[in-house]
Amino acid sequence: MNSWHHKHILTLENFSKEDFKIVIELAHKFNSLNSFEIENLPSLKGSLITSLFFEPSTRTKNSFELAAKRLSADFLSFHPSSSSLSKGETCLDTARTYCSMGSSILIIRHSLNNIPFEIAKNLDSLGLKTSVLNAGDGFHSHPSQGLLDLYTLTKFFSPTNLDPNILLKKTILIIGDILHSRVARSNIWSLSAFGANIVLCGPKTLIPDEFANFLSSKHQDEIEDPIRDRGKITISRSLEQSIKNADAVITLRLQKERMKTNLLNSVKSYSDDYCLTTQKLDLCDKEIPVLHPGPINREVEISSQIVDSYSNCLINDQVANGVPVRMALLYLLSTVNLGFRAI
Ligand code: ASP
Repeated sequence: MNSWHHKHILTLENFSKEDFKIVIELAHKFNSLNSFEIENLPSLKGSLITSLFFEPSTRTKNSFELAAKRLSADFLSFHPSSSSLSKGETCLDTARTYCSMGSSILIIRHSLNNIPFEIAKNLDSLGLKTSVLNAGDGFHSHPSQGLLDLYTLTKFFSPTNLDPNILLKKTILIIGDILHSRVARSNIWSLSAFGANIVLCGPKTLIPDEFANFLSSKHQDEIEDPIRDRGKITISRSLEQSIKNADAVITLRLQKERMKTNLLNSVKSYSDDYCLTTQKLDLCDKEIPVLHPGPINREVEISSQIVDSYSNCLINDQVANGVPVRMALLYLLSTVNLGFRAI
């Protein structure tokens, strides 16, 4: 716990294996407390946490709020439509307003890449102690989702001793609109960290060939990768072929709001090829876990039958696990901000 050093959580590119383990082990502890229906923990009593969501959200926003409340923090929510944004205030000035009110953590979602990074840099340059937690920026990064998916898969494969190294050499198939998905990018960082091999499956328009080099190309602030022995990325255009060797599958929504041009012949032809159905799942000889970050579009990327009746469909577990993972993130950031506090 004492080795946590990140003031902001903006990406998973700069996470070491130790960082990932600290988060999921702490989340697991919070999870067991939650399941005993223990009252809210006093850990963050007196601190103010603010969510600034400039883009819609159901799961992420509410689970951050619940996580903050479970730790007894005060919680403010900014709503763009009823805010001074409409009077011309910038995101940065909005963020600084909430810092002046005493927010120790700003949880920020924005439709443009890098906005949380720019806000964090600005707050640092002003000497402010406030932490920034990226809750999803454009198609760039969604760290809390990458962490909760790592936790969910680790729990699935290693339920008794929660060891993420269980992912070593497992094949994780991520299907669909990788190009516009911040979830896919964060999952690639979190799952490859423990040696999982990632297969990206979809049409060329949604997964250009260059994605095979994603882990070795230059990223945010040219951070040096703290992990030397990552799993590998390969690309497949055939779901029927790639599902056969998969140990787990993550399906993704078509992010139409981020598509500038028409990248598909039709949604119907996309679904024929890439919608995960029980027939396609049956091509795999194991009962593999199925994940989806939500929101789901039934029969486009995943069939209702899988969502409603497949026993290893982990979509609800992902939502449930989101709360303790976000409790862990808020708690850890507050140890940097406020010094160590007892759980
Ligand atoms: N909820 C996820 C995100 O915010 C996935 C999605 O929207 O499709 O990126």
